[in-house]
Amino acid sequence: MTVASAGKKGRLEVVCGSMFSGKTEELMSKLKRAEYARQRVLALKHQLDNRKSMTCIVSHDGRARAAHPIDNCVLSIQTIIDLADQFDVIGFDEIQFFPEDIVQVVAKLVLMGKRVIAAGLDLDFRGEPFGPMPYLLAIADEVVKLKAICVVCTKDAHYTQRLVNGEPARYNDPIILIGAQEFYEARCRDCFKIDQEPLILPAARQAAAQV
Ligand code: ZN
Repeated sequence: MTVASAGKKGRLEVVCGSMFSGKTEELMSKLKRAEYARQRVLALKHQLDNRKSMTCIVSHDGRARAAHPIDNCVLSIQTIIDLADQFDVIGFDEIQFFPEDIVQVVAKLVLMGKRVIAAGLDLDFRGEPFGPMPYLLAIADEVVKLKAICVVCTKDAHYTQRLVNGEPARYNDPIILIGAQEFYEARCRDCFKIDQEPLILPAARQAAAQV
């Protein structure tokens, strides 16, 4: 019997946290365990995340598994639904890079009986909720919030500090810059630095953008 049998709904598991908290490793472990149970597993990633590979999910410790890259231009609910139809378990890596439409895709997959596992950054470098993550966290059956270790003081870290030329990035720097250790560090709330107070609610960000 597969997860998608008998008209049962599936479930959504979200793995979130800062960079260097082990999200991709946790996603890969969950997918591997599903494969041991002879489940059919599909891994998806955003094409934007090409820092180590276009067609693999690669963790910071160097483990890799094949993944189907999805381009924003071809993103439609039907595209992913069609792709996912023959699988029991659908894993998304770096799901924060997808547009908010991905929430509808994920909800539909769960209705279809799929087990969806989504890994992503919950906060961007400004310390603000990242793209579709708040909605995914709200509808999730299970949330795993991983902690990294603050590189400054070694406390638990759930912020991603962006550094440009060794200095904390400014609030108005562009939001997406794919990189690794030379650009980003895990930091705790005390050690995280940004030159403006993070705007947590979408309405506050929209109002600020219109000024
Ligand atoms: Zn710290």
